[in-house]
Amino acid sequence: MEDRTWKKATLCVQGGYQAHNGGPRVLPIYQSTTYRYDSSEELAKLFDLESDGHMYTRISNPTVAAVEDKIAKLEGGVGAMMTSSGQAASLISVLNIASQGDNFLMMGNLYGGTTNLFLVTMRRMGIEARVISEDMSDEEILSRIDGRTRLMFGETIANPSLDIFDFDRFVPLSHKAGLPLVIDNTFATPILCNPIALGADIVVHSTTKYMDGHAMVVGGVIVDGGTFDWEKSGRYPELTEPDESYHGVVYTRQFGRAAYITKARTQLMRDLGSTPQPMAAFLLNIGLETLDLRIRKHSGNALKVAEYLNGRTDLISSVSYPGLPSSPEHAKTMKYLEGGLSSGVVSFSMKGGRESAMRFMDSLKMAAIVIHVADARTCVLNPASTTHRQLSDEMLREAGIDPGFVRLSVGIEDIDDIIADIKEALDRCL
Ligand code: PLP
Repeated sequence: MEDRTWKKATLCVQGGYQAHNGGPRVLPIYQSTTYRYDSSEELAKLFDLESDGHMYTRISNPTVAAVEDKIAKLEGGVGAMMTSSGQAASLISVLNIASQGDNFLMMGNLYGGTTNLFLVTMRRMGIEARVISEDMSDEEILSRIDGRTRLMFGETIANPSLDIFDFDRFVPLSHKAGLPLVIDNTFATPILCNPIALGADIVVHSTTKYMDGHAMVVGGVIVDGGTFDWEKSGRYPELTEPDESYHGVVYTRQFGRAAYITKARTQLMRDLGSTPQPMAAFLLNIGLETLDLRIRKHSGNALKVAEYLNGRTDLISSVSYPGLPSSPEHAKTMKYLEGGLSSGVVSFSMKGGRESAMRFMDSLKMAAIVIHVADARTCVLNPASTTHRQLSDEMLREAGIDPGFVRLSVGIEDIDDIIADIKEALDRCL
């Protein structure tokens, strides 16, 4: 039986699903869109949100629910909702408390896909993302907040800059302004960092990355910390006043600390339908079982790779890895990430620019060139020759991207083989 004192490694393996006597040992895949009830009254109670249970898989499903429960426990939240992708999780985390005419604060170093979603697509929906950064003073940041500002959004380990979010500074700042803090914890995973314990209110993940860890399933999740006082803040009528689309339910009154995540599911998942498939949840669960093991190995390997790259001053102009003692992010890494472990992602710049980066990548034998990070296999990406290839070197520099910039996602193979592959490929660039 599940125990409240279980540590994270145990939750990864045992959390969420408990086999009943004689039941299947492994989480079953409930591949069913719908659920049978004996009486229409029972179903009516489900519709009225008066009892728990599943009615339609667009909204909830037992396989998905077990994995959501595991993730909520790993993050220390009151509830979680899986989504069909990380993008859907980010979108819903904002849409749940922001409507046309509202605005919110986003850190300027978010993942490019999130940045595009927030600055372009959401703007078209009439929701304005206002960019802030660590370089700005508190006064400058507070001056971006007005009566229609709804939240602050950041990433624990930013992709791809690998900046570490300054919780001690931004938690009090967002709460002072009466705003919940939403954190994308994808790269850190709940093993290395629990943003809710550090003061954040909502956590989102692209589970496509380390949580799955095998590059098999696209997915996302939103976790509600249950920490934010929506009533006291007075800015969130969608949670504190009757929802006319759900026959007048007042989420804070009926669901207390789980108001935010209940609304996300019963209103937005119902309407938007960015639902994860039961099979996707099943596969994600297999990944989660080894997450604690894997993220430690990724981080240990990445530190060794970063140290090796740091020594290759003949070809490399700079190495960025928050776990390196020489990194400007190191103090925050030690403060906020367990044991100073900071994931498997390392970035560096080749002195020879775009051409040199491409030669390095083409010379790798084991590590593969892919548009992905954070799975068991070591892989590389050079934005200048792939995701940003339409831009000239000058345009890239203006966008803050060095043409020779390589993002390396260090896998969990033997470190000697990873470094040998990198060394051989670098030597071909001499
Ligand atoms: N957040 C971060 C930090 C990411 O790296 C990504 C994808 O790379 C996303 C969100 C979007 O997730 P998905 O690709 O699962 O939609």
